[in-house]
Amino acid sequence: MSAAHATAPGSRLLSVEEARAAVLAAVPGPTEPEIAYLSEALGRVLAEPVISTTALPPWDNSAMDGYAIRAADVDAATEDVPVRLEVIGDVAAGRAPDVEVRRGTAVRIATGAPVPAGATAVVPVEATTPLAADGAAGPRGRDATGPLPAGCLVHEAVPAGGSIRKAGSDLARGVTVLEAGRTLSAQAVALAAGAGVPQLTVHRRPRVAVLATGDEVVPAGQELGPAGIPDANGPGVAALVADAGAEPQALGIAKDRLEDVDSRLCAALAGGADAIVVSGGVSVGPYDVVKLAFEKVGRIDVWRVAVQPGKPFAFGTAERPDGGTALLFGLPGNPVSSFVTFELFVRPAIRALAGHPADRLLRPVDRAVLLEPVSKSPGRRGFVRVVAERAADGSPDRDEAGRVRIHLAGGQSGQGSHMISALAAADGLAVIPEADHRLEAGAAVELWWLGAG
Ligand code: AMP
Ligand code: MG
Repeated sequence: MSAAHATAPGSRLLSVEEARAAVLAAVPGPTEPEIAYLSEALGRVLAEPVISTTALPPWDNSAMDGYAIRAADVDAATEDVPVRLEVIGDVAAGRAPDVEVRRGTAVRIATGAPVPAGATAVVPVEATTPLAADGAAGPRGRDATGPLPAGCLVHEAVPAGGSIRKAGSDLARGVTVLEAGRTLSAQAVALAAGAGVPQLTVHRRPRVAVLATGDEVVPAGQELGPAGIPDANGPGVAALVADAGAEPQALGIAKDRLEDVDSRLCAALAGGADAIVVSGGVSVGPYDVVKLAFEKVGRIDVWRVAVQPGKPFAFGTAERPDGGTALLFGLPGNPVSSFVTFELFVRPAIRALAGHPADRLLRPVDRAVLLEPVSKSPGRRGFVRVVAERAADGSPDRDEAGRVRIHLAGGQSGQGSHMISALAAADGLAVIPEADHRLEAGAAVELWWLGAG
């Protein structure tokens, strides 16, 4: 028996935390590891650490275009009394040096080229003047291209090691550069590549099947007839699934008939779904067949969670034909309710399946201040859709206490659980504690940013 069933007696009102803990306890663990090329690694979670196959830089190299020299040779150099050096060679990026810097000599060097033996510093070209074979001075600090000058004047002293990037100063070879459990950001992809690693071991993206239900629900763009409504949840929940890092699999729109829902659930289980998210049809109305269909394929509880919006919410598990476990989620049909319950319960479960560590499952939380009053039912935690005030540069506007100044998206009337327009305008969800049925303007609240983390 799964923890979900052990901890979620049907009749009691569950807190958000209890419900989420029960969902997470039923997650069978992260998906198995697979190999991903760097080009497909963004957003994935590492199943194994990344070990550098090279030191970085691999060899001492020049941080500047200039001349590789012996720092001691130019100790006394000043703007007016420069030191003259003989230029004995050139080293371009991608070339190995073929000369050694000896006393009184310099080797012209490009940024990123290996520092030749004997050199202890690089003097930037800006601090030099090129000299022709007859001793004629060229333009001071001209760019370091063109024919190699016979000599150069150095107009300033440079410290030993100056403008040299030491081998291994960024990374050592054979060290862990990214830990298992890390999410691969663009920077992390660059680091893996820079460390010489072309393929990574990541968790498979969870497969999450998405089903809309309802005789009135019609695919967007099709004739609605006298009683139809466009399917907002199918595409919306699939987008939430993708945004959570999983691979959505569309199961279409089922009629409010047990066989129709059941056959689509069976198809999803046969297809290896790690989770199935159904919207609509979980209430106790005569046409609400989702619970029955879930009971046919697995075990399910309809929970009463102290959250608004978010009723009703069903959760359970089913065994797949391949022996694996699929999580079953039944979300309310109202689009805002399905969105909020997805945020609270489905997204953390998907992130756990995708391999994110336990402390990385939830949205980042911020502090905010309400700029207008808000009401909700007492006894339930409210998640109201809010818009942040913005400064001229587009960043969220904060008060003196550092709290984000927020408005209700669509005003109080935008808080209806069918109001997709206000949902789409929202930057985040503000959390209204269970005990409050009304908060006044100026009240401090928690803010969950959407679209980040
Ligand atoms: P239900 O949970 O099936 O009782 O549905 C509750 C409300 O949500 C009803 O007004 C439905 O028409 C609406 N609804 C259900 N599914 C969808 C959907 N996929 N897209 C838009 N609205 C929906
Ligand atoms: Mg329905």
